[in-house]
Parts: sequence; structure tokens; C-alpha cells
Amino acid sequence: MQVPLLDLVAQYAGIKDEILAQINEVLDSQRCIGGPKVEELEKAIAKASDCKYAVGVSSGTDALLNSLMSLEIGPGDEVITTPFTFFATVGAIWRTGAKPVFVDIDPRTYNINPELIEPAVTKRTKAIMPVHLFGQMADMNPIMAVAGGNSLAVIEDAAQSITSTYKDKKAGSIGTCGCFSFFPSKNMGGIGDGGMIVTDDEALYHRLFIMRNHGMEPQYYHKYVGGNFRLDPIQAVALLVKLPRLKDWSKARRKNAAYYNKKFKGTAVVTPYISDDCETIYNQYVIRVPGRDELIQHLRANDIGCAIYYPVPMHLQECFASTGYGKGDFPEAEKAAGEVIALPVYPELTDEMKDFVVDTILAFMD
Ligand SMILES: *Cc1c(COP(=O)(O)O)cnc(C)c1O
Repeated sequence: MQVPLLDLVAQYAGIKDEILAQINEVLDSQRCIGGPKVEELEKAIAKASDCKYAVGVSSGTDALLNSLMSLEIGPGDEVITTPFTFFATVGAIWRTGAKPVFVDIDPRTYNINPELIEPAVTKRTKAIMPVHLFGQMADMNPIMAVAGGNSLAVIEDAAQSITSTYKDKKAGSIGTCGCFSFFPSKNMGGIGDGGMIVTDDEALYHRLFIMRNHGMEPQYYHKYVGGNFRLDPIQAVALLVKLPRLKDWSKARRKNAAYYNKKFKGTAVVTPYISDDCETIYNQYVIRVPGRDELIQHLRANDIGCAIYYPVPMHLQECFASTGYGKGDFPEAEKAAGEVIALPVYPELTDEMKDFVVDTILAFMD
């Protein structure tokens, strides 16, 4: 039996006709950048995230970059974030000229440890960028308390956590703004690159909106230096077909996770810890095991897809060497990087497939 880490072909089979019809309409209109379909998606994502405004952009990375640029973060500034994330979080900070300042993670949730943020705040700190990793939101109340006490912006990197909740509040709705990715492997995946920023701040919305198109307003008059961060309607129509299904897909992922949790109970497999404050959307189902690298070989030999998110924490990446961080600075992030494996958790998994994954892992651990 083959069990891929993710099967987008299975997902597409159920929505193909709808998406193709919508794409045809876009092509017939030849409105190929922005336009009413992008606006419709923005309204729908704002609503799904309990936010007033949304700005569609070209990727999750550009959502982060536009947010930082629109908040006027740049050289001389510091942004506090987690070292245990996808590169884009830190790459976006770096590209503005600001300095990424890392604090370690909570080893249970893999998200930033809020207790470590306040001691990392300096007079140069401008923002905190928590990442809602694997589908579960970071512990936002203490993060917002530190931000409030120090007048810092909070940019939620919610690339993996669209519609996930913390104390019944939606991802992206708690901080100054929230950033989503529509990279195809995310829970709301487009048919190419795409992203979105949500906010309740009208002035920030306006800035984000202008910055998406070279800081231009009115046409050919440039108030700020922005970029080409635009979203196209082909992505928008595909995402509009997917959005009404997201709730059921997330439910199916949670059901798959619960199935695994039950089967792994009492074994040496450490299953995901989900805080009582959170409802996760399981962009990833991540376990920790001793002998992780051998287990990966064993899973691959059995045609089971798996992946390490992420093998090298950001403070140990070559491109950030000049920050001066080194091995041992963030022990929990480093430990997690050595022990985690993501297993298939996508909605279309059958019980037979899950059983095969569990049996293959438990046979290896015996
Ligand atoms: C995917 C991802 C991004 C970047 O999104 P893209 O759409 O690929 O640019 C940023 N942060 C995190 C945590 C991600 O998982």
C-alpha cells in the first residue's frame, strides 16, 4: 500500500468541474490580475477570519513582507520571532533590513514560548511575529500583553493555520494583522502561489493595499516604495471553490489525528499536544520519536510519505550566520528539529491507510 504525505489529486477529483468552469470564466473575461474575483475572495477570507479587511497578495511570504513594510519596519529595528518555523518568516524580516531576534519554543506546542519574549525586548524592538505552527495557534494572550506593554505590533504568521482558533478567536484576528499562504500544500491551497493579509486596522489596510501595487495612489503617483505583491483571479476562483469545504476538511484532519492518537496511546510515540485554548486545523500531524532518522528510512521503504518540518532551526541557517547565534542558543528548537516527523493527515485518508501507517511505525519501534 502507498500512503503519500498529501494527495492533492484526490482532493481535486471532487472539485475539478467547478474549478475548470470558474477558470474558463476568468479567461473569457481576460481580467487576469486583481478584479472582482479577488475582491470576492478577500471578503470571504475576512469573514472566515472574523476580520474587517483583507488584502490578497502573491504569496504567504509577500503577505509577511508587505505587513512589515507597511508597518515601516526596517534597518535598525528588531522583530522577535521563533527559530522553529519555515524560512519565509525570518527571510521576510531580514529583507526589510530589520534584525530577527529569536526566542525559544514551548516544546509541547512547538510555538514561541511567550515567557521568553519580554526579556528579549529592547528599545529597537518594533514587532513580535508569532507563527501558528502545524495548524495550532501560538499562546496569544501573553504575547498580546507583552506587545501592549511595549507598544509593539504583532504580525501573526498564520500561513499554516487559516480558520484555526485560540480561545474562540480566529487566526489572524488577534494581532495587528495576520498572514495566510495559499501555497498548494497548505490547508487552503491554491493552484499556484498566493497569500492574504487580514486586519481590523483601517489605516494599515489602506497601506497594505497600496503597497501591494508599488505604493501607487493614484495611478503613477508613488507615495511609498512597495512591490508587485498582487494576486490573480485564477487563484481566487480556485480558492473560492475550496473555502466552503475547508471546515469539513479540517474536521476530517482532526478525525484522522484522533485516530492516530488513540492507536499511539501507551507507545513511545509522542503525539501532538493541542492546548485546551486551541482548535487546530492540523496542517501537519507531527510526532516525536527516538531514532527518528531510522524511522524515516523505514517509512520510505514502505511507501509511506513523511517529512521533517523543520530539520534546521533558523538561528543555525548559513544565511543568518551574521546574527551571531549558534548551536545551543535555543535548545528546545534544536531538540525538536532532531526528533519530529510529520505523518500523512490529509482528509481523504482511509482507515486502512492510517492503520498501515500506525502498524508500520509500531513494528519499527518494537
Ligand atoms: C508556507 C509558509 C510561509 C510562506 O508562504 P508561501 O505562500 O509559500 O510564500 C510562511 N510561513 C510559514 C510558517 C509557512 O508555513
